[in-house]
Amino acid sequence: MKTMSHAAPHPSAWQGAQMQQRDDWVVHLTPAHNRELNEALAFAKSRNAEIPALQHVARLTGDLQRDPFYRWLDRWFLLLQLPLAAGLYWLGQRTGVHGGGLGLVLWAIPLRLVLVYHVTWLVNSATHALGYRNFDSPDLSRNCWWVAILSFGEGWHNNHHAYPHSARHGLRWFEFDITWQHIKVLRALGWAQKVRVARYPGNA
Ligand SMILES: [Zn+2]
Repeated sequence: MKTMSHAAPHPSAWQGAQMQQRDDWVVHLTPAHNRELNEALAFAKSRNAEIPALQHVARLTGDLQRDPFYRWLDRWFLLLQLPLAAGLYWLGQRTGVHGGGLGLVLWAIPLRLVLVYHVTWLVNSATHALGYRNFDSPDLSRNCWWVAILSFGEGWHNNHHAYPHSARHGLRWFEFDITWQHIKVLRALGWAQKVRVARYPGNA
């Protein structure tokens, strides 16, 4: 798979820590993100030997490791696709959508997973080759607008490397980060607290 091509040389333990930082916050807040992350982590676990950073996931996700709900999702994520598939199939058949129940299942599960994994890994390949740098971080990370759109903000990857603790990746006014908008709404509702945010030095 194309997305694996960059995996071996790049992600260090150091970067794994960074990759995890924001997920800690986001996962805490939204079941949808949590599901995606758990799927990605479980998928990645099988490749632990190839990606040293993943050996540090447990150490870097203390709050999630302590939460029985997230541990349950992590453990059963693959089997949980089955009731989801059954529900979607039933819905597709009942509503008569184009492609029927099977079509709905194929779009909602395999296609979704393929897209999510490709976008996730695209961040670690494209944004180390394409784009510009705001910060002189000791790596090849770059900010790439089209990856930022596809990855909901992760494509502002040089910012992310420079400030791995920041929930906000798009730091300059034109660096749109839809995940950060999402987090802001949650914070306004009081559902997200203690959100850590970096600032671009040029901003007020
Ligand atoms: Zn990176």
